[in-house]
Amino acid sequence: MRKQIVAGNWKMNNDLAQTQALISDLKKQNQTSDAEVMIAPAFTNLWSAFESLRQQPIEVVAQNMHFASNGAYTGEVCAAMLKSIGVSTVILGHSERRAYFNETDELLAKKVDAALANDMRVIFCFGEELADRKSGNQEQVVKSQIKNALFHLEASAFKQIILAYEPVWAIGTGETASPEQAQDMHAFIRKTLSDKCSSAVADGVSILYGGSVKPDNAKEIFSKPDVDGGLIGGASLKAEDFFAIVNAF
Ligand code: PEP
Repeated sequence: MRKQIVAGNWKMNNDLAQTQALISDLKKQNQTSDAEVMIAPAFTNLWSAFESLRQQPIEVVAQNMHFASNGAYTGEVCAAMLKSIGVSTVILGHSERRAYFNETDELLAKKVDAALANDMRVIFCFGEELADRKSGNQEQVVKSQIKNALFHLEASAFKQIILAYEPVWAIGTGETASPEQAQDMHAFIRKTLSDKCSSAVADGVSILYGGSVKPDNAKEIFSKPDVDGGLIGGASLKAEDFFAIVNAF
């Protein structure tokens, strides 16, 4: 049985006090689903978030990391640093990192390797732009993103990988892929993985949908058979909304 996962990507929001306030609100929420819950605060707040959530079933994950194991990379954070504060899952390949920080598939392949070498889990994000969808190229784009960054891995490595399909045109725009569009793409992704590895591997990988998921649309999106959860941006910044999504399963 695949894991259902809801992860909140806080992006560059919330200072220390705001992080603590939101975590305190999250602790007051009642979880009625079996979904694994994760939050990704900014680097500066990871340790304090980890400490505050020690006894809670909410995992603290990172939004990014560098591929090198240490060294002269001013401003960067490596896997060992994250591991040393209890963080063992990292989001890689978010469309904002690809767009604003020029992260390519090739760079992301190195980051994935570094995460796996440090026994971390990866939430690997990818998705097409609006122009790709309009021209009907969405499957081709998604397949090449997955292939370039992940297909050098051994089949066994996919136990550590969570996929997050995030159509760029739906991120932070209020526009969501329809549940059918999400299901079609998730089924295509699973088939791509099955062709590359095996159906057993493909059936074990959780594929999250991301892009303007809100309390009022989560239930329908999560009801689709190949949608195993969500990566949530805006709606993860309010504890009630985030848990309404967590409980939408
Ligand atoms: C995201 O940034 O991963 C995301 C899905 O954002 P939003 O939910 O705000 O569209």
